[in-house]
Amino acid sequence: MKAFVYGGPGKMSLEERPKPKIEQPGDAVVKVSKTTICGTDLHILKGDVATCTPGRILGHEGVGIVESVGSGVTTFKKGDHVLISCITSCGKCEYCRRQMYSHCATGGWILGNSIDGTQAEFVRIPHAETSLYPIPKGADEEAMVMLSDILPTGFECGVLNGKVAPGASVAIVGAGPIGLAALLTAQLYSPAEIIMIDLDDNRLAMARKFGATQTVNSSDGKAAAVVKALTDGKGVDTAIEAVGIAATFELCQLLVAPGGVIANIGVHGHKADLHLETLWSQNIAITTRLVDTATTPMLLKTVQAGKIDPTQLITHHFKLDQILDAYDTFGRAAETKALKVIIAND
Ligand SMILES: [Zn+2]
Ligand SMILES: [Zn+2]
Repeated sequence: MKAFVYGGPGKMSLEERPKPKIEQPGDAVVKVSKTTICGTDLHILKGDVATCTPGRILGHEGVGIVESVGSGVTTFKKGDHVLISCITSCGKCEYCRRQMYSHCATGGWILGNSIDGTQAEFVRIPHAETSLYPIPKGADEEAMVMLSDILPTGFECGVLNGKVAPGASVAIVGAGPIGLAALLTAQLYSPAEIIMIDLDDNRLAMARKFGATQTVNSSDGKAAAVVKALTDGKGVDTAIEAVGIAATFELCQLLVAPGGVIANIGVHGHKADLHLETLWSQNIAITTRLVDTATTPMLLKTVQAGKIDPTQLITHHFKLDQILDAYDTFGRAAETKALKVIIAND
């Protein structure tokens, strides 16, 4: 089968690989029909993710058709249409019993990281019963791909951890796919203000289309003052960090109102300063989270009901044969205006 393989920092290729087989009774092998590229895949290609070693097939998002199942799998069978979660969970360990699937003792984020992933014709899914979701008849496959990772990530790490509430004010720093996923799902709670902050006017224009009430281009370094002016000097109840660098985390510390929450989503490769000299008395909370995908079934229903349309995030389409072009397009997002790219295998 064809597979996109990480070859070490800066190295990638589309290769011929053996089709995966059932290894454990709980496994399923899925024929991938659509997948996508995540910002995290770009981190891997830079060599930032030590657990992902050269030779690994990348990808932790996708949908497909069950090809075969192990002897322990009773809830899925060959031919079933399934959504692949970016998080693998056994459903039984201490963390799974607390719905912290991201920290599953024998799962978590392993797909396209410590085991081969979805950017291939076929993928092996361990703990299939608790790591796959049935796709309802008539569902839009491309919308379902957005449920593997970015919608639950924006929602759980940003909106739920950030305690977005009706009538509240929210600032989202970073209008990339994850920031926009937080913007889409924040609206489930009807906040009064959602202020989107980014360096890229094209992404800010998208954010306005997706429901941002205000947008701020932070390239002049004055974003904190602008947000204060927009909020009667108070700042925001929820500041969501959706970039993963020190500057944006530090900006969130300037934006948060007394009693507010800073909810970090970004993947940070370097340390960031924490200004306790100003924040110690502000009754704030700071949260971090690796997505658990505990809300995937609920988000699937909201998508099916038309409450959220995640297909708005899809800007480009490729075939698996063209995955190197897809990476090039996704990697130059400022020029290509790429958000999410769909890679089809049929
Ligand atoms: Zn991802
Ligand atoms: Zn577990």
